[in-house]
Amino acid sequence: MPSVQLNTDVALGVAIPSRAARGRIARVGPVLDTILAAHAYPPAIEHLLAEAITLTALLGSLLKEPQGQLTLQAQTEGAVVDLMVCDYLGGELRGYVRHDSDLVAALSAEPTLEELFGKGYLAITFDQPMASERYQGIVPLEGKNLGEAAQSYFTQSEQIPSLVRLAAEKRDEHWQAGGLLLQHLPEGEEGRERLHTRLDHPDWPHVAILGGSVKAEELTDPGLPLDDLIWRLFHDEDEVRTLAAIPLTRGCRCDPAYVRSVIARFPEDEREAMVGDDGLIKVDCAFCSSTFAIEPKELSD
Ligand SMILES: [Zn+2]
Repeated sequence: MPSVQLNTDVALGVAIPSRAARGRIARVGPVLDTILAAHAYPPAIEHLLAEAITLTALLGSLLKEPQGQLTLQAQTEGAVVDLMVCDYLGGELRGYVRHDSDLVAALSAEPTLEELFGKGYLAITFDQPMASERYQGIVPLEGKNLGEAAQSYFTQSEQIPSLVRLAAEKRDEHWQAGGLLLQHLPEGEEGRERLHTRLDHPDWPHVAILGGSVKAEELTDPGLPLDDLIWRLFHDEDEVRTLAAIPLTRGCRCDPAYVRSVIARFPEDEREAMVGDDGLIKVDCAFCSSTFAIEPKELSD
């Protein structure tokens, strides 16, 4: 098996069998720079998207199916951010944030989720096409950051004792972000049995304290391999396992043929209204900012 580097642009599975804890640790660097380079976001929005992409990597890498897709989507009205979308498919990540630039300028240095989204919600959708499984959770956007919001969602709504830590910072003009997700999942637990998980199981607080001691600068330091960081946090445990490592890449699935087929389905008068001064219909991909130029006559039969 080819070895995967464990410093950056990677998600790594973690298990602590004696404590019935499992999870993921992830770090995203050059992939974030590529995603952010397609936009010209102010620092607060870049920071938000860096954390959102990291959360997407943590949750996406939990999917069992290679073709499974995970989507995060926050939609609000009248807030600084009115739309944020990130998704994960087979290690490919992408995302964008639609926001009001004037309102961003008035934000505090470290805006809370409420400052960014108002009374907003984040929809997390797990899609596993092989098993025809689709599951959506709705997370109130409350707390200091997306990590806090995700953690209280899993703990309160899903009744799975969980720890989520996210950190992102720009170092020497390059973004580095990292995240840790740990969950208490007793052996053999499936489906409805989860309802009986005890939030006060004695093993969990121990794992949560050790995992919670991770520092933001450890999560974001590309010089610290993720397996070394896990060992640093949990070396006193009887057994700590690292599982499969999934390399992360920036991937956009926008496709000129698909864009053309969507535009072709509009009625002719609406298509005519889309034609610009240069005689072309131009469609932008919100994720990667690619522009597709279509000749109107390509669309007529
Ligand atoms: Zn695209």
